[in-house]
Amino acid sequence: MGLKDFKVKVYKENILHNYHYLKKIKQKDIIAVVKSNAYGHGIENIVKFLSECGCKYFAVARECEAEKILKLKLNDINIIILETIDELDFIKKNSNVQMVVNSLKDLLNLLNQGVSTKQLHLKLDFGFGRNGIMEKEFDQLVKIVKEKDLNFKGISTHVFAADYEDMLKIEEKFSEILKILKKDRFEMIHMQNSAGVISIEGKNCTHIRCGTILFGLQEIGYFDPNVKRAFKLNGKILGIKDLKDLKYIGYEKKENINIEKYKKIAKIRLGYGDGFSKRSEGIMSIINNKKFKIVHISMDSSFILVDDSVKEGDFVEIFHDLEDAINHLKVPHYEFLSCINDRIKRELI
Ligand SMILES: *Cc1c(COP(=O)(O)O)cnc(C)c1O
Repeated sequence: MGLKDFKVKVYKENILHNYHYLKKIKQKDIIAVVKSNAYGHGIENIVKFLSECGCKYFAVARECEAEKILKLKLNDINIIILETIDELDFIKKNSNVQMVVNSLKDLLNLLNQGVSTKQLHLKLDFGFGRNGIMEKEFDQLVKIVKEKDLNFKGISTHVFAADYEDMLKIEEKFSEILKILKKDRFEMIHMQNSAGVISIEGKNCTHIRCGTILFGLQEIGYFDPNVKRAFKLNGKILGIKDLKDLKYIGYEKKENINIEKYKKIAKIRLGYGDGFSKRSEGIMSIINNKKFKIVHISMDSSFILVDDSVKEGDFVEIFHDLEDAINHLKVPHYEFLSCINDRIKRELI
């Protein structure tokens, strides 16, 4: 790895702080959601580290993410796949892998195929419309569960981040159905994502199921000043050129770029081939505690307008100001952070 390569540095201490803080304020265990490369933080490093810290449950969205965790050969951890998967042999072969049942049809199929209910978490949908057994199917669900006297690994639902009143309603409805089904049938009960962790108590729940807040990423409208961000994308300046000697910056004609008062252009080894979207053109980087604009992004490099204070080898940080990047890119931070791909190494420090 080159000395000037970009890396995602992940601060262990902050992840650990968030983990213990969330456990303490909620008095529940944590299902660490590590889908999408642990929101860009690096799934392998994060799972290894959190399992050393006592975390026993990890949730992913895809089978391939579960496979990555299995390859780590960690003892005493459970993997929950949140989306429906078709490859049932994968579940049958791996007793520590569990899946979420996202429809009544899936439940019947899973029972027919002989998948153990000890590897299943029922998911109830109160109108979120994404995943889960629909409210109109609940009577049928209750009938099946009672007739067959089924006991499951878990039961869950999902809350909408958009509306607090709706969250409370879902919490209430979830409690009612748990009473009908009898909660002793379920070893684990969970409903709260990060917004839910901040907003509601999570009545009856044994676990919280969170990603963003565990990594210290705040959701707009849900702010907890006690969580600490752990992600830092940085690298060093490869070289600096005088603008007067250039006709182009990257592939862009110099005239097309607003050069303002700056006279120099710094190159860094980070481009859209690393998952650093070209749409980030215009955001600010931080060099020696000063802000400088990224003016051009190509596949393998990007270019920053700088002044005379900046030297080759100086550190550059990208996405330091997440709010600024969110406003510029018009997508949430977990989207652009999880887009940074495997060309960029993750370093847990
Ligand atoms: C992604 C996901 C989560 C985690 O959401 P955060 O807002 O990042 O905490 C929880 N539950 C399910 C079903 C998810 O898909």
